[in-house]
Amino acid sequence: MPGQPPSLLAPPSGCRFAERCPLRFARCADDPEAIILGDRHRVRCWLLADRETP
Ligand code: SF4
Repeated sequence: MPGQPPSLLAPPSGCRFAERCPLRFARCADDPEAIILGDRHRVRCWLLADRETP
């Protein structure tokens, strides 16, 4: 992902990728919930929040 990563000392509110994400939308101002995709696979993205779990 191009751009600078956010400060770890003062991270932005909402999704940490929002400033660099080309897919961001209004909901990204809130911190995404963790979605479990597998035993060792989690993702935090609002684009997948309403997706049916397998
Ligand atoms: S929640 Fe997903 S769509 Fe929104 S800014 Fe973060 S990575 Fe992009």
